[in-house]
Amino acid sequence: MTRSEERWVVATANRGKLAEIQAILAGTGLTLVAQSELGIEPAEESAPTFVENALLKARHAARASSLPAIADDSGLVVDALGGQPGVRSARFAGPDASDEANIERLLSALEGVPEAQRTARFHCVIVAMRSADDPAPVIAAGTWEGKIALHPSGSNGFGYDPVFVIPSLGCTAAELPPGRKNELSHRAGALRELARQLRR
Ligand code: IMP
Repeated sequence: MTRSEERWVVATANRGKLAEIQAILAGTGLTLVAQSELGIEPAEESAPTFVENALLKARHAARASSLPAIADDSGLVVDALGGQPGVRSARFAGPDASDEANIERLLSALEGVPEAQRTARFHCVIVAMRSADDPAPVIAAGTWEGKIALHPSGSNGFGYDPVFVIPSLGCTAAELPPGRKNELSHRAGALRELARQLRR
């Protein structure tokens, strides 16, 4: 099989993420397929760091599909909370918590914390491995610096976007047009870095 015909599995069931990954990796000659389309169940995200979770998700997808695999893991790190919610971002308010419940928990945990100390960042790690036994996976990371607002605003995006303020723009991630978020975000940064490494 030539490099231009390579099919890779992406460890996600999220069509938005797949489209974003596809757009940024266009030109690398890879054809991407979501693991959900191959009937592969998601791996449990049980590791304490983003990089370990991305590795275990990619390894699970590569093993189950016998294809090379790409996986990401991301979340919000808040300085005043000692790095929480971190790898538990999706389930900060409990298993299967809604975005609204997670935001509410975050804002109450930060009650009384002044603006200057509400610094935070999104992290994204993306891993690409040729097989489940690949001894040298490609690892790319991106971060996006911001501050946690006192109240949610904006309706675009997902997750913590309505309370993630980008200080240089004076608005939340949920107030940005989607195209603009995809240029600035932690995921975009990690994907660009991954594309650079894969082209090498
Ligand atoms: P995962 O990488 O899909 O497991 O995402 C983990 C969680 O981090 C999401 O459910 C969100 O709560 C949060 N998160 C990750 N990226 C973003 C983002 O771009 N905006 C808002 N929240 C995010």
